[in-house]
Amino acid sequence: MPITPSSVRDLPVGLLGRAQAVQPRTVALRRALHRRPELGLDLPATRDAVRDALADLPITVHLGGSCSSVVGVIEGARPGPTVLLRGDMDALPLQEDTGLGFASEVDGAMHACGHDTHVAMLASAARLLAEDRDRLAGRVLLMFQPGEEGFHGARHMIEEGLLERSGPAGEPEAAFALHISSTLPSGELHHRPGAIMAAADVLRVTVTGRGGHASAPQDACDPVPAAAAMVGALQTMLTRRIGPHDPAVLTIARITAGTTDNIIPETAQLEGTLRTLSEPVRAQLHTEIDRVCRHLALAHDCTAEVEIVPGYPVTVNDPGAAESLARVGAKVLGAPRCTPMQAPIMGAEDFSYVLRRVPGALAFLGGRPAGVAAETAPPNHSNRVVFDESALPSGVAVHAGLALAALSG
Ligand SMILES: [Zn+2]
Ligand SMILES: [Zn+2]
Repeated sequence: MPITPSSVRDLPVGLLGRAQAVQPRTVALRRALHRRPELGLDLPATRDAVRDALADLPITVHLGGSCSSVVGVIEGARPGPTVLLRGDMDALPLQEDTGLGFASEVDGAMHACGHDTHVAMLASAARLLAEDRDRLAGRVLLMFQPGEEGFHGARHMIEEGLLERSGPAGEPEAAFALHISSTLPSGELHHRPGAIMAAADVLRVTVTGRGGHASAPQDACDPVPAAAAMVGALQTMLTRRIGPHDPAVLTIARITAGTTDNIIPETAQLEGTLRTLSEPVRAQLHTEIDRVCRHLALAHDCTAEVEIVPGYPVTVNDPGAAESLARVGAKVLGAPRCTPMQAPIMGAEDFSYVLRRVPGALAFLGGRPAGVAAETAPPNHSNRVVFDESALPSGVAVHAGLALAALSG
């Protein structure tokens, strides 16, 4: 049964208080993970920490084969549908400069996107749900995923049969994820229906001409002006070919060519990122970028090879699921702590792979420390980012509330 106004109304009282009661456990796990960040798809210590955190609970744990994923299954007292809750587990390759007492002890790795808090919140939500199994009609899938930061961990887990863990009920009826943000007010839930995060593709263009002496360009074929013209032409193309209500970002972030001042190089390279909020616009831009670059190269008597490496798809919240998430948030945290987002974020998220298969929603949980202004708070992915741990019970309670409302029978 989907989440309805009455299933939200009937949620047990005191979820937030119970989440606060397990806060010492939540913080201890979060800090342990923060000290020992791991990157990519292979996170053996993180996987073991998750397994240990669930060990005393009536939860069946399945470990991944192709990557360090963990799937926990909470079986409700009665049969019913399945709801999936996601927590990603990987860190980022950068040096931590926060000065925190529990800062990273691993050189060149840091939990700068807050995935350590995601793991800890989901593990504590699992604890509350395990205590409330009598209330659950159906199954909760706890998706602890590696490799969110560019490694397609969610896709690997789906390929390994994550969604089939729903059992006889078929695929999950709903899926939810929270992402902490160091710039949003602590403990607030920010939600929106439809596209909430962008698709992110990598663009690489190689322009090939004919090298020669820089004093005699007429005897060579210079790829540098062709590449330079592409940077402007791509922006013009974007505004002429894509409607103003269907946003897209195209940034050429890297240009390389040549070795010194008196040589015309044979090739020039452009690299950049393409961010889109709908799959049709994404597909259209792949075609347009290729056409503009190839023809501009021809205009300069050069050739261009265009490579677009597809990244994560657009993260699209199911409207019904997004509304359910907002309702549960308002019930558990109080309506003033739940804010509709005006616009999507142009970052990307591989929970999008789950949302392609299962109607669900991702929302942001504020984690800005007290006394820090939004304008000066180091953002996620910064070497100085700090997340307010007092926001964690809110995430624990919302996770638990979503599963309880979805499986209320
Ligand atoms: Zn990130
Ligand atoms: Zn993240």
